Amino acid sequence: MIERKPCADNCRRCVLRAGFLKKRPRSAALRAVGKQVGVKARPRKKGATEFKVQAPFEAGTRPTPIRTYDLMKSSEPYRNKCHWISNFASMSRQTFEVLVLGSSSASPDTERGVSGQYLNICERHFLIDCGEGVQIQLRRYKARFQSVAAIFISHLHGDHIFGLPGFLSSMHLLGRKNPLTIYGPPRLRETIMQLLTVSDTQLNYPVEWVETKNDGKHRLYEDEKTEVWSFPLDHRIFCTGFLFKEKPLPRRINKELLAELTISVADIMRLKAGEDVENEEGRLIKNAEATLDPPAARSYAYCCDTAFRKETAEYVKGVDVLCHESTFLKDHEVRATATRHSTAEQAATVAQLAGVGRLLLTHFSARYRYVNDFVREASAIFPATEAAGDGKLFKI
Ligand SMILES: [Zn+2]
Ligand SMILES: [Zn+2]
Repeated sequence: MIERKPCADNCRRCVLRAGFLKKRPRSAALRAVGKQVGVKARPRKKGATEFKVQAPFEAGTRPTPIRTYDLMKSSEPYRNKCHWISNFASMSRQTFEVLVLGSSSASPDTERGVSGQYLNICERHFLIDCGEGVQIQLRRYKARFQSVAAIFISHLHGDHIFGLPGFLSSMHLLGRKNPLTIYGPPRLRETIMQLLTVSDTQLNYPVEWVETKNDGKHRLYEDEKTEVWSFPLDHRIFCTGFLFKEKPLPRRINKELLAELTISVADIMRLKAGEDVENEEGRLIKNAEATLDPPAARSYAYCCDTAFRKETAEYVKGVDVLCHESTFLKDHEVRATATRHSTAEQAATVAQLAGVGRLLLTHFSARYRYVNDFVREASAIFPATEAAGDGKLFKI
């Protein structure tokens, strides 16, 4: 029998499970569970209640074996054994997450891919940079390949663009019809189109190319929920960073107060928009008493590749998560300066100056085997530091 009622504690997991199962067939419910926690959870056969889970592969660790869980049995096995599943409980807000596809600089190896990140912001799917092998990483980490609506390219170095022609071609071969927008430096279009032309690849879907500028902050993309900005970085060639922002959310209605008053739906919408309203009984309801402050809008900044610059902190001031390159450790600071890259300590200094919430380090040189050394160096200046290992999913 399918359990349709939440447990006695009314825990979020059970409420959701009851919700999914009421509305959808079981296999769709399982896929939805997997999607929410960033793993592929597929039923073993149609209608089955069992599903398989494999936590994403992390650099420097063995891949976890695929485990099979039964949705209908006790919640404990998968709640305790799979930390990805335990993220389940924290999904009350709109999605804002970053999946790291590659964290190596220059060239990929067996443990680390080159630059690429997959963003899901309120169900807008973006790709940042597209180094060699990014499409394989997208498949490995179960990202929604064809849902990418826009690609943001920071600069024309190979470890950031060599995967792009292959990715465009694969989407074409898989039958993509939806339009795609690619934001990138001057000459990106010319470079990629030349490859597609000589290889006789004609894409079946429209591609819009938008040139970025590095003379200040520019808004590249905007819709009703999100916006994306570019800003200049200091690298050997033209390079920009990107700032992804959630737009301010509407005020929340104080439901306890509204239960005592007679208010129309139209007036509730006006209250959410910040207005005062008068109800049917002629009582003036002040916005301040009927609504609560909305949750703060979230933001994510990507700075790769760049030398240390104090000005960068101005562009990323107060973001929730800053992803900053740290190609080298302090022992190679001279080389970092010469090649216009940063050390972990310099990335932490930018994070500290900008007052960000968390710092993610990425773009590690292949000369270093352990990314923990980068985290240790940066943490001395900015404690809330993590390494953006391949396959890691960061919820913002
Ligand atoms: Zn690079
Ligand atoms: Zn570069």
